[in-house]
Amino acid sequence: MALQERNELGYCPLCGRALLGEEGAARLRDGKQICGLCAVKLRPAFPAAFSSDFGKLIDSPDPLSAIGLEQAEQAAGNAASVSEELRQKYGFSAVFIIEKAEKEKGGLLKAVWRVTGRAVLGAFCPRDKVLLVSGGAKTTLELDDVETVAPAAASRGSLFWKRAYGGTIASFTVTARGSIGPGDMIVKE
Ligand SMILES: [Zn+2]
Repeated sequence: MALQERNELGYCPLCGRALLGEEGAARLRDGKQICGLCAVKLRPAFPAAFSSDFGKLIDSPDPLSAIGLEQAEQAAGNAASVSEELRQKYGFSAVFIIEKAEKEKGGLLKAVWRVTGRAVLGAFCPRDKVLLVSGGAKTTLELDDVETVAPAAASRGSLFWKRAYGGTIASFTVTARGSIGPGDMIVKE
């Protein structure tokens, strides 16, 4: 049965891997589905979109769905240098930029925050030890939870589920002292 399902889904046109159902994959302009691993690789150069006020997410179009196979192949070849440029630009190996910060509970000393923003580079998972960069100060934190918001293809059970890869939009739950605001970053060195 499993083999049959695989055959029906076909293979990733970029890497040739068998497609394993909804795994956070994206569709290219011609409707061809690429695998989750290739989507993770291409995503930093084709980040998921969101509205300017960040209150309302734009579900489509996915910038990956605007390119064809030839362009996707080129982008896959350039993926390492795109990541390297971002690493040099920000000076960290993983970068998440906070667009919206909401205090869920707690007081002045310690509070639980839900922060939503853009993962630019790298990967974030629950329990990861990270740094909060706020106004030049760095504080060590642990991610209590990670939830991918966009692309919409990032559903339960997918590669993107409970992960935030560069180019995705995600919400983190963190416990922190002091205040968190838009423009602050969560990073890994
Ligand atoms: Zn692939």
